[in-house]
Amino acid sequence: MSRVQILSKLFGACQSKINYYNNNNNNNNNNNNNNNNNNNNNNNNNNNNNNNNNNNNNNFVETETILKKPILKFNKNGKFKIVQFTDLHYGEADEYDLLNLIVQENVIENELPDFVMLSGDMFSSYNIFEKEKYLILWEMVTRSMRKRNIPWSITFGNHDCEGPLSGREIVNMDQSYSNLSLTQENTDPNIPGITNYNLKIYSSDSDETSVESSLSSVMVPSSSIFIFDSDLPQCNESGSWGCINQKQVQWYKNQSDQLGNIPSIAFVHIPPVEIIDLWNENMVKGDFGDKESCCYYTDESEFVSTMVDRGDIKGLYFGHDHKNDFHGLYKNSIELGYGRKSGYGSYNPKYLEGARIIELTEQPFSIKTWIRNVNGELETQQTHYPNSYSQSPRYCCTHEDHKDESTWTLFLIVYCSTIIIISVIFYRIKSRDQNQTNSIIEL
Ligand SMILES: [Zn+2]
Repeated sequence: MSRVQILSKLFGACQSKINYYNNNNNNNNNNNNNNNNNNNNNNNNNNNNNNNNNNNNNNFVETETILKKPILKFNKNGKFKIVQFTDLHYGEADEYDLLNLIVQENVIENELPDFVMLSGDMFSSYNIFEKEKYLILWEMVTRSMRKRNIPWSITFGNHDCEGPLSGREIVNMDQSYSNLSLTQENTDPNIPGITNYNLKIYSSDSDETSVESSLSSVMVPSSSIFIFDSDLPQCNESGSWGCINQKQVQWYKNQSDQLGNIPSIAFVHIPPVEIIDLWNENMVKGDFGDKESCCYYTDESEFVSTMVDRGDIKGLYFGHDHKNDFHGLYKNSIELGYGRKSGYGSYNPKYLEGARIIELTEQPFSIKTWIRNVNGELETQQTHYPNSYSQSPRYCCTHEDHKDESTWTLFLIVYCSTIIIISVIFYRIKSRDQNQTNSIIEL
């Protein structure tokens, strides 16, 4: 009996998702299922016992308690591998949460990364009603990483903080849950957002003691990861939600100066509007399945143009649009890319659930990226060439909202002015006629 069959026995509901997964299972699984189906009752009982044992084994306790936070380092081959899980949407339904575990387990097992980035919408918080539920879900979200002592970090999507736990409470839960969490909290009230922070990656030839003793100044990291919080309730430019603010960009500039402009990458949940230009004007790999992208303008914040000008951030990755998974080089300077939607909650990705893998090379600095799906398979992303069929941003977090408002305001002003002018003309004509009538009477 496959793991998914166990899920369907336990929960019954949501057959479409389970069938979807089943259809994409490999032949080995199907063969195993067939064999299992042909077994007699005794064998089924044995299988159930075995499966229960396996499940118990999966509910592991960390074999080794991590007493101090890990330091991120390139390995001996000068590589540093990141798995980006995005839009996991835990908390939507129990059966989806269990399927999410399979995605995470298969991706992590096949890639064995140095670091995992949870780039927002870890939770479908609109469907979570008790604070305690977050702890149960966090055990699941972090299980595949804790099992292998792989550090992780989080940033917020637009659905993480919609439930009973605030953003700061989620950060506190994560930080206190395990020392493998490298999540940090912005405590400067002048900078919007909670999860704006930088993680340093040290050279492969630095030993841990030298790194630890020189964390403050002596040793310069060879690379770093910038993490931005786009879950802002109010955005100047659009008058809407979800964007990056000028002050966050100023924070990035300060950090970048302190680090000496070293080659870095960055994560944020909601994509900036430059992703539309990238698709329309450049060759990219992957798909634009969402038809329109929910993104924000950056004219005021200069979020992407600052990165291009400074030249230190070589890759910016995001999620949010579940059916988009393309990536490409923007202005010959920075790679912009969607992750692959990782979770089963909310609306589905166009292809299988999975994750984007980002591998950094230390010397000379370069980025290689690919998709690993729920079945543990590598996916080849199709090349898309720019053509006349252009994509456009959706209204939700752009200043199109603003444009609409100003169009209405202009219409109202013109309408009211016309009414007033017509009334004045009409009044003047009427009073002139009245005067003429009076003069005739007087005559
Ligand atoms: Zn989402």
